[in-house]
Formats: sequence, C-alpha cells, structure tokens
Amino acid sequence: MRAEIIAIGAELLGAQRTDTNSLYLAGELADLGIPLQRKAVLPDDVRELAACLAAACRRAEVVICTGGLGPTEDDRTVAAAARALRLPLVLDPRAERRLRLRVHRRGRRLYAADLRQTLRLQPARWLANRVGSALGQWCPTARGCLILLPGPPGELQPMFAAQVRPRLRRLAPPAALASRVLSVTGLPESEVDRRAAPLYRRVANPSTTILAVATPHVELHFRARATTRQRAQVLADTLARRVERRLGKAVFSREGHSLAEVVGAALAARGQTVAVAESCTGGALAAALTDEPGSSLFFRGGVVCYSNDLKVTLAGVEPSALAAQGAVSAVIARQLARGARQRLGADWGVGITGIAGPGGARRHKPVGTVFIGLCGPASPARARRYRFFGERGMIRRGAVQAALNLLRQHLD
Ligand code: AMP
Ligand code: MG
Repeated sequence: MRAEIIAIGAELLGAQRTDTNSLYLAGELADLGIPLQRKAVLPDDVRELAACLAAACRRAEVVICTGGLGPTEDDRTVAAAARALRLPLVLDPRAERRLRLRVHRRGRRLYAADLRQTLRLQPARWLANRVGSALGQWCPTARGCLILLPGPPGELQPMFAAQVRPRLRRLAPPAALASRVLSVTGLPESEVDRRAAPLYRRVANPSTTILAVATPHVELHFRARATTRQRAQVLADTLARRVERRLGKAVFSREGHSLAEVVGAALAARGQTVAVAESCTGGALAAALTDEPGSSLFFRGGVVCYSNDLKVTLAGVEPSALAAQGAVSAVIARQLARGARQRLGADWGVGITGIAGPGGARRHKPVGTVFIGLCGPASPARARRYRFFGERGMIRRGAVQAALNLLRQHLD
C-alpha cells in the first residue's frame, strides 16, 4: 500500500506560503506504516489537477488532497476529482441543511456559491468539519481511496485524526515503519558516502538517504519496514550500527540531536560547565549552547571580544602575544580559552578567533582560517587550526560546529 499527497492552492507556488499540510500528513502516514511515494503542489487549475489526480489514483492506493474545498471561484478540487475519476457530482441535501444552519447562526446570507460546498462525489462519504465550513470527502477508487481534506491546518488536522486515521489503520496491512538517524560531523558528505555506500548500496530495506544538513554536518537516515514497529526498528538499527562502525567518532548522535545538545548532555552528565570567549563567531557558540532549555546546568556564559583591546581586558589575552602572533593565531585561541575558563569560572573554556571574510585575509591566513582553543580541568590549553570554505555565514557556522565537536571529543 502506497500513498501520494497533492497540496492544492496557487498561493503554495508563490513566495509567501508554504505547504505544511504535507509535512503533517507525511508524519501520520509514517506512523501508519504507509509509505509516501510522491507529493505534489499544484495551482487551482481543473485540468492540471484532474491530470495529476488521475495519475496519482492509478499509482497509489491512498491519495490525499488538501485545499481547494472552499466556496470561492478558485476552489476547484471537487470538480477536478470528478473529472479525473469520471464520477458524477451530487448536491447533497443534508450537507445543504447543515450549511444553511451554520450560515444562519452566524447571521449571514447563503449565496449560490456557498452551495458548491455541498457537492459530493457520488460514491464518496463526507468527512465532518467541526471547525470550518468545508466538508472533507472519502471516495473509493479502483485501487483504494481518494481523500479530500480542507486546506487550513486547524481544520485538516482534527479531521484527519478523528476520521481518516482510524479508517486508514483498518485498511493498511499490518506494516510498520521505523527509522534511525546518524548525525555526523567533521567529514564531508562524499567521504561519509564513500565509507557507507558499500554497506547500504544493495539493501532496499532499510532504505538509506544521506543529506548534508549544514557544511560540517551530514545525516544518514535509515528507514525500514516490517510487520511490527519493533522488527522494523531492529532492521534500521542493525544497518545503522554497521555504518556507524565505519564512521567511528565522527558520529555524534543516533537520536537526531544537535551537536550542542550532545555536548550539553555530556557536560551535564559529568556535572561540568563551559564558558566561551568568541571573536569571529560573535556569540554564535554561546547561542548554540543556549538553544535548548536546561542549558543553565552546564553553560556559565561567554564574552564576545571582537576588538583586540577587549580580548585583553575581558579575556586576559597578553598584549605581547597579540603583537607577536596577531589576533588570528593558535596562541590567542589558547589564551581566549584559558581566559574564559578562569575569568568566567567554568570547568571548560573555549576560545574562537578567525577570519570570517569576505575581507581580512592575511599572508598565510586566507579567509576561512579559524583557530579554536580549548582549556579543560586536566591539561593545559591547546588549540587547533581549521580552514572553512564558503561565504561568511558558512564559515561562522563551521567554526561553531567545529568548536562544539572539539569539546565533544575531549569529553568522550
Ligand atoms: P483552501 O482550502 O484552498 O481555501 O485553503 C485555505 C487556507 O488554508 C489557505 O489560505 C492556506 O492558509 C491554508 N492552506 C491551504 N493549503 C495548505 C497547505 N498545503 N499547507 C498549509 N496551509 C495550507
Ligand atoms: Mg485554496
């Protein structure tokens, strides 16, 4: 059994609105163990819609449309479905009574156009709408069913939950989906794939997707199907473990957590804290560390010392080292880390200094050169040199991710 989703509405093809209904529906279908094989976004055009609907109903057992059920001229979903499936439309007197009552209670007049909302595909059943006026429809097709749902998420979601989900659960074979996500940092996507591909290439279940989430962050998604959720989870986890062995310490999460969450959890588990002194990242590391609630357990605070004199007064950097090595150097990164740790009273200190660009390149220090310092409870401060590529934002995000990863590796 396979599903397709068609999101309908010209506004969804513009720059202002996005199709969020299909995200909700995709999650629900995954829960039901019904694989989603395609989704489409179409304007309110009867011919386009009818062609797409007809093809979808030929390919999939479950076709779900959202939007275009309202009373206005641009609401064409029902007409398109009738054309696609060659089904007659009937004006439903019960739906009309309901609509008249609803309109009357609101002190409005019923217009001829409103009655379009009482047009039902002849073999379809209504899906009640307790929030808005547009009814949904559940229509049998040669392969399975076509489900028409209203566009507003506040109407679609309760309708799906109460009336569509239970019916689909009865129809769907007892199949379950489960997935496992491996989050990887510090390796480029091509290197991740070079190591993982020999393991997943010839395996159809679980299916594997590799995506670059941000420059130094790659995710591997393993999705498995089986008769029960537990069996599917075992399948996904088995392949994930084999791939993880080939990626080693580059894997930082199996639960889809961010690197900052992983670092935060590791610090909290040890009862330790971190403080930061940032230059080129301008506080982005502190922002990442405080993204999740509960960060006060492990994050002491930080200073943004962008100018050289503040590196001295706020983070305790030595003016002589600044003069000798320049602000973008290993020694300054170490001193920033030590300063953050000592002055802000944390177990760990992190210092970041670099050239985010586009200007500021020096001899032997091109744009994207970043030094990250780390100072912990057990050993003297150390620093590593990195080189990031791309525009300013990518370089800064890369530096934050690398700093978090450096800390993670030392906590391991
Ligand atoms: P409609 O049922 O086509 O009249 O849509 C009514 C409203 O629902 C639209 O103006 C949107 O705000 C919202 N809407 C329609 N389709 C979607 C969608 N796929 N995702 C999120 N919101 C939607
Ligand atoms: Mg619309």
